[in-house]
Amino acid sequence: MRLVFLGPPGVGKGTQASAICNHFNILHLSTGDILRSEIEDKSHIGLEAKSFMDQGELVPDTVLLKIIQNKLNHKNAQNGYLLDGFPRTIPQADGLNQILLELKQALDIVVSLDANEEELVNRLIKRSLDSGRSDDSPDIIKQRQRVYWKQTAPLLEYYKNLNLLKDVNGIGEIEQITKRILKAID
Ligand code: AMP
Repeated sequence: MRLVFLGPPGVGKGTQASAICNHFNILHLSTGDILRSEIEDKSHIGLEAKSFMDQGELVPDTVLLKIIQNKLNHKNAQNGYLLDGFPRTIPQADGLNQILLELKQALDIVVSLDANEEELVNRLIKRSLDSGRSDDSPDIIKQRQRVYWKQTAPLLEYYKNLNLLKDVNGIGEIEQITKRILKAID
């Protein structure tokens, strides 16, 4: 099982991705988590990524494609994976296609989790109170939403054209949304 999760910041992608990965016993690859751990390690990638992340901007495509290429080539990805927060731009999606081609793999489905923007900003502002994330201030939250609609939302059309997209309503109880996702995957 190879999945991609798309959705605006705050829609609950991370929570749902964990539940779905447990269900199918597949690898959860969250590029946001990977980048945060690179920053913690003060690695070269972390140092490069931090200023973009702190401003709510996307980290350059080449950095992300290198990370994903590495992760997908690892043997713990052989049982399947869920990409959470990647791809986020058309060049990343094109790069992913190329990586999959080389690995002779294909995506099974792309889940788009959806919710209205006001609800999302409110959720993120609440989360910011205890997340400790440096990109969770109200201004940066709004910037991350803008970046999503401008740079990532075109991927909805991209995957729709490839017949891979399934829309799932992201408003409701956590378990209820997990059930909707499982039904969309079936
Ligand atoms: P997330 O935890 O998915 O909200 O990601 C947090 C931040 O990490 C984003 O605002 C971006 O700065 C960066 N990031 C995560 N994934 C990507 C990606 N696929 N492309 C570019 N930047 C990313």
